[in-house]
Amino acid sequence: MGKKVKRGQVELNPMGIKTISDHEIKIILRGADDLIMSGGRTMLAKILAGSKDQRILERGMEHSPVYGAFQGTSQKEILAMVDWMIIHDYLAIEYDFGIPLLVYTDKGWEIERETYTEELFIKLLEAAEYQEYEFVETLKDLDRRMIFLLLDKIADSGNKDFIVILNAWHSFEYKKVKSRIEEVIEVLEQAKGDINKKPKEETISFSANKKWLSIPAETRKSLERNVWCSNCCDVVQIENYTVKESKYGIVLHGTCKTCGHEVARVID
Ligand SMILES: [Zn+2]
Repeated sequence: MGKKVKRGQVELNPMGIKTISDHEIKIILRGADDLIMSGGRTMLAKILAGSKDQRILERGMEHSPVYGAFQGTSQKEILAMVDWMIIHDYLAIEYDFGIPLLVYTDKGWEIERETYTEELFIKLLEAAEYQEYEFVETLKDLDRRMIFLLLDKIADSGNKDFIVILNAWHSFEYKKVKSRIEEVIEVLEQAKGDINKKPKEETISFSANKKWLSIPAETRKSLERNVWCSNCCDVVQIENYTVKESKYGIVLHGTCKTCGHEVARVID
């Protein structure tokens, strides 16, 4: 048993945890995003544990991309990790009418902003791919610095697929963001060919991969062998695939084992 640390009214107990990996830190911070000034440590531990607690489901928190990310670890141990995060100044507690709620510290927010931007980058790319241009409306009131970070990332990607959705986004935005969007469109228009830099898969895939892996191995195998290839005009086996999230469920993107043509399969 570790030493208990008293902070305000909340008793923190990191249970002797020495260190937490960067990846775990990112996950915990991502989980906290839905709870800032609206939920506390226990709620965060429940999200990460994938708890079916009514209070989680009522607030739709099972949709967090890190819901169940620490499945298999006890809620008590996860809570200890959360407490470690508070003691190490990634998260803090603020009281609202005596109720302890989570907030980001500057240090924590700097990391979370990066994670969240990465996620938005992927979502925006998917929205462009599936022509869901209304997605840009959700960007309007986000943290301004994060939006500029996102636009930098898009400019760096050199990916022309973003141009159409950037035009849609442009029509919604305030002046400062508008002119940055114009600059980015110009950069992309001048980008040579299809650089199509692949974004880091790590951030997005934790939820899609988890859903995929929750399907029994036998079923997964038969799904892999049951993919339509438009080039072969036949049902083929998919290989070298990645798992992504989409509006319709998770999607496998890969190549046909027979001819190498790109194939995809939605798992709903
Ligand atoms: Zn084929």
